[in-house]
Amino acid sequence: MTSHDSHTQPSTQPSGWGSPTPGHISLGGNPGPPEDDRRDSVVTGRAVVSPPDAAAATPAELMPAAADHYALFQDIAGEDLKAWADARSLAAEVLPQINDWWDRGEYPIELIGRLGELDLLTDGLDVPGHRTLSPLATGLVNMELSRIDGSVGTMVGVQGGLALRSIMLLGSEEQKRRWAEPLARGTEYAAFALTEPDHGSDSVSLETVARRDGEHWVLSGQKRWIGNGAGCHLTVVWARVDDPSDEALNGQVSGFLVGQSLPGYEAEVIRGKVALRAIHQAHITMTDVRIPLDQRLPGARSFKDTSKVLFATRAGVAWGALGHALACYESALEHAQKRIQFGRPLAKAQHVQVRLASMLQTLTSMQLHCVRLAELEAAGTIRPEQASLAKVHNTRAAREIASDARDLLGGSGILLENRVVRHRSDIEALHTYEGTDTMQSLIVGRSITGVSAFA
Ligand SMILES: Cc1cc2nc3c(=O)[nH]c(=O)nc-3n(C[C@H](O)[C@H](O)[C@H](O)COP(=O)(O)OP(=O)(O)OC[C@H]3O[C@@H](n4cnc5c(N)ncnc54)[C@H](O)[C@@H]3O)c2cc1C
Repeated sequence: MTSHDSHTQPSTQPSGWGSPTPGHISLGGNPGPPEDDRRDSVVTGRAVVSPPDAAAATPAELMPAAADHYALFQDIAGEDLKAWADARSLAAEVLPQINDWWDRGEYPIELIGRLGELDLLTDGLDVPGHRTLSPLATGLVNMELSRIDGSVGTMVGVQGGLALRSIMLLGSEEQKRRWAEPLARGTEYAAFALTEPDHGSDSVSLETVARRDGEHWVLSGQKRWIGNGAGCHLTVVWARVDDPSDEALNGQVSGFLVGQSLPGYEAEVIRGKVALRAIHQAHITMTDVRIPLDQRLPGARSFKDTSKVLFATRAGVAWGALGHALACYESALEHAQKRIQFGRPLAKAQHVQVRLASMLQTLTSMQLHCVRLAELEAAGTIRPEQASLAKVHNTRAAREIASDARDLLGGSGILLENRVVRHRSDIEALHTYEGTDTMQSLIVGRSITGVSAFA
């Protein structure tokens, strides 16, 4: 299945930016429950509660004391609180339907437009006409969206964090004029294509080539695992330049703006995924895709520039992991208080309390990592290896909490309706993407030893 024959309509624009098929994109799987079973209220754990009113939300409503032992989130106010509450407001729309989407492997792509309407796609970037989220607000949005669902968090990570950021950091003024607004508004959808079938952790060795041919670049190669890579509009493709006329650029990695409906661009949705099932990743094959010379990102002159984009999104993954852990911890706590075994709630068993306390201990350490990262970023002193440490710590910790929560829910823990197992599956993707646990540890290792151990 390719982006041409199944996901995109023919382009009406000469530049080749495609128009995605409206509505959902299905990956197959089991049919969900009937429409009548979907409700307007929010399903949290086993309970159904009314969503908080976003405009009036307080920190205590968004982060109850039982999940904020050091009161790290209780003083959040103003624009930061507003952004956090805006993200939470999506829960009312997403949670009643997410299990169906997830179960069917269906990508509710129009949610990108909703995220844009709520101005949640900019990921801390300074985009004209949009609010600029502080590092704390950016983190809170990442956390809150992943607390709802990992696919929703990943939509922002891909569209705003990676694609829009590449253009805002490395693009020309003209490229920003063309893309900043539709990507921030969510009226067009974009991908960031770095990973290749043979180059994941060592993406620095990527083999996709952009050959200069007169007034065009001609791109050929394959990309794998690309969120929004099929059925969307734009892919920011990272490729190795073949242009002997430019000695400095020749052989270096640069970024290229490639319309997904251009001839030679084929994308197949990756099937059989058991994490982030409500967003699609694609395997892309480019065969002599021809784009004008001015579609190269002028600020991308080597892999170091690519790394600037990757570094900027790393903290977001740490916050996203916190969101997954929170969802699992909250569900476990609620279940322990309600589930009666041996004539008393599980929460009255010493061993269960010790386990919940241990989960809270881990959760609190995750929160401290995140809040400190936001402080360092706000101060302008954050170093890449600091974000790496937080990414490693938090994705590991989220896996632990998710596993414990799954166990505490007993058999119910493997039912989608209790949300823990969805988060437990999704955290596997965060553990790997944007630099695996090991790669991020090697970045930290290099910073403390002064020696690189990658190869
Ligand atoms: C759901 C999902 C979404 C994604 N979205 C995107 C996207 O939108 N755009 C994009 O470009 N990419 C995306 N990726 C790709 C992601 O960034 C890669 O999967 C990741 O970088 C790891 O690459 P790999 O899967 O090829 O694993 P590999 O690099 O093959 O690694 C396999 C294992 O070997 C370990 N390893 C590798 N090298 C070493 C070494 N030198 N020493 C010790 N251990 C090592 C790794 O840590 C890992 O445990 C996505 C991936 C997933 C799963």
